[in-house]
Amino acid sequence: MAEQRLTRVPFYVEQASYCVGLHERATCPHCVAEGCPTLEEAREVLAVYRADRARRYGLDKRPT
Ligand SMILES: [Zn+2]
Repeated sequence: MAEQRLTRVPFYVEQASYCVGLHERATCPHCVAEGCPTLEEAREVLAVYRADRARRYGLDKRPT
């Protein structure tokens, strides 16, 4: 069932994804002129999750 694990997204990642999507069309209560700490955090969560998943499943390796 590797495929299920691959496609299942943890709740905190879903939240981060929602947060990034929200900021594409709106602001949140944490937004300030310099940017948004919540958005930064969400992007960080997504980046770490994607990098970790790519590493775990070898998706970052090109077929030889
Ligand atoms: Zn914000």
